[in-house]
Amino acid sequence: MRIEELYQEMIMDHNRSGHNKGDMADPSAVERGHNPNCGDDLTLLVKLENDRVSDASFVGSGCAISQASMSMMIDLVKGVEIDEVQARIEIFLKMIQSVELTSEEIEKIEDCYVFQNLSKMPARVKCGTLGWHCLKVILERS
Ligand code: ZN
Repeated sequence: MRIEELYQEMIMDHNRSGHNKGDMADPSAVERGHNPNCGDDLTLLVKLENDRVSDASFVGSGCAISQASMSMMIDLVKGVEIDEVQARIEIFLKMIQSVELTSEEIEKIEDCYVFQNLSKMPARVKCGTLGWHCLKVILERS
């Protein structure tokens, strides 16, 4: 399967399932991401415990790319130590800026590597990085 097809399929799967979408009772931090060009308006809710991202979810509305990227990011960081999460965010953002990743870096971001072709779609970059910027802001603040 070509990466473009894989990418389409993963985006569709994440949006269909509503995976990681929903409110959280007692979040440690909340950050809203807004992309007026596309109409994406998503809010990330995060629970931080023992230097880890112990839980995360999101609410709001947005295009398929913004929601799938948010959801796949949550899968990638849940249960992971904050330092490691910050490293993974930097790798993802670097990839979107068309920086070539090492094989270790690709391994660290797992399925989120399918978003690499976003770097060739400048109009969608904000959609694909919305959730990642929310998480980055939360972790820098905490
Ligand atoms: Zn969008």
